[in-house]
Amino acid sequence: MTKRRGEVAGVDVHCPPWCESGIKGHRQALREGCEPDQARTHLSVDLGGQVDDIRNYLTGRLFRPGQGGWRVWLEAGPLMTTLVLELRTITRGKNIPAGKRKHNSVRLDLTTDEARSLAAQLIHLADREDLR
Ligand SMILES: [Zn+2]
Repeated sequence: MTKRRGEVAGVDVHCPPWCESGIKGHRQALREGCEPDQARTHLSVDLGGQVDDIRNYLTGRLFRPGQGGWRVWLEAGPLMTTLVLELRTITRGKNIPAGKRKHNSVRLDLTTDEARSLAAQLIHLADREDLR
């Protein structure tokens, strides 16, 4: 089991349950040259998915040919005052050369309530589009 509490660069660190680094990982980041606050930043495993074509969920109508995907993870600073949800989307259209693939990224500082509300609203909006 990964150690969840310890000292990193002279500061006590307590990892949240979702932190993949553990104290060993935070210390390793420091040895690899990260600034102390950066080394103490907690990161979750990133979740993601990939789709071959973007289609309407119900009708199957094709919106965008080609692969696309996303990755999302949690991040919190050493003082745990902010929770960051970072979302990256990757578009690999069938006619887009490998070097010209489109990557979009957005970082959102959210409370857990805001994250839940956003997720519910995104599902609502996707349903409205798919059901029209
Ligand atoms: Zn941690």
